[in-house]
Amino acid sequence: MIRTAMNSKPAADREKHVPMRRCVGCMESKPKETLFRFVIEDDAIVPDPAAKRPGRGFYLDRSEDCFRKAVKRKTFQRLLKRNVSPEECEALLDRIRPLF
Ligand SMILES: [Zn+2]
Repeated sequence: MIRTAMNSKPAADREKHVPMRRCVGCMESKPKETLFRFVIEDDAIVPDPAAKRPGRGFYLDRSEDCFRKAVKRKTFQRLLKRNVSPEECEALLDRIRPLF
């Protein structure tokens, strides 16, 4: 077995791996820790700012703009598999706005 120099990566390539997640508002991939996590729990969307809750999660930029994009795209309806009223979306936004 002959090891060639090509098998050893230069130090610059060995950067720390940053986990990426997609924002459900703008659909851009961002480093996970810059995004805000939610989980689906008991047929509701639960903010998970510490990203510690178990269960099915999704991610959003910490921005009202992206939240509204997600609302427009009916993301929450799809995730909850039911109708989500504009009032429910506003109530959720009111809850998470101080956490952004
Ligand atoms: Zn976004």
